Amino acid sequence: MVLLRGVAAAVAASGFLALAAAANADAAGPPADRFDTVVIDAGHGGEDEGARGPAGHLEKNLVLDVALLLSARLRATGLRVVLTRRTDTYVPLETRTAIANDARGDLFLSIHANAVRDSEVRGTETFFLSLEASDEYARQVALRENAAFRGPSQRGAPVDDPLVAILGDLIANEHSRESNEFARLAQARLGRLDPDASRGVKQAPFVVLTGVQMPASLVEIGFITNRGDERDLHSRRGRERIVAALAGAVRDFARRYDARRGVAVGAPARAR
Ligand SMILES: [Zn+2]
Repeated sequence: MVLLRGVAAAVAASGFLALAAAANADAAGPPADRFDTVVIDAGHGGEDEGARGPAGHLEKNLVLDVALLLSARLRATGLRVVLTRRTDTYVPLETRTAIANDARGDLFLSIHANAVRDSEVRGTETFFLSLEASDEYARQVALRENAAFRGPSQRGAPVDDPLVAILGDLIANEHSRESNEFARLAQARLGRLDPDASRGVKQAPFVVLTGVQMPASLVEIGFITNRGDERDLHSRRGRERIVAALAGAVRDFARRYDARRGVAVGAPARAR
């Protein structure tokens, strides 16, 4: 319930501006909007350590390193990259959303490492935002990743406000298709690293993805509670494989994004 109140408040805060902007763009004829800005969100940080592996490695450190490596790799291709954190600091989830929206990103990518009781479970999975979780497991993942959320929007508008509900539908649908598309591209690339360890694309109500006015996905790059995954995530080679897969997915997504918006293929392409 607390979670849904947060969702509703975030939607209420961001919804009207997004709708107004969309209406203006239609009236003026939308300009060619090239894919050029990626927001990378390293999960957790500071006092919020995230999950801890059996060898003692912390999710907050592993995902920050992957975020920094991915950022460098994407910048080298000409993309603009905005990080929600670049050091071991606590950044509230709603601040991460605000950073992403201020940057007017074309894609928001939140990077996490997974944790479950069963230490045999391993592999990668990618989530996109939905108010309903795709299953009980997805709901549990969202509960854990949302635990850092202690924002003022918990005191926000009640979810039974019909206007909020309608806005929620509109905003959720606005980028839902592209969020789903990126999640599938990312998971396809990650799956190629180790087909046996691909756990697929899922949906769940992640607070950090709510109110982000761009396509958004959350990637769980492995299970830190599995010794093999923890070792891989801690190794330079393992991280670089993940980074290469995610960079490839961003490139795949950018091509489709530009094609949909009529950006000429072969136009001066700083970003390719
Ligand atoms: Zn996490």
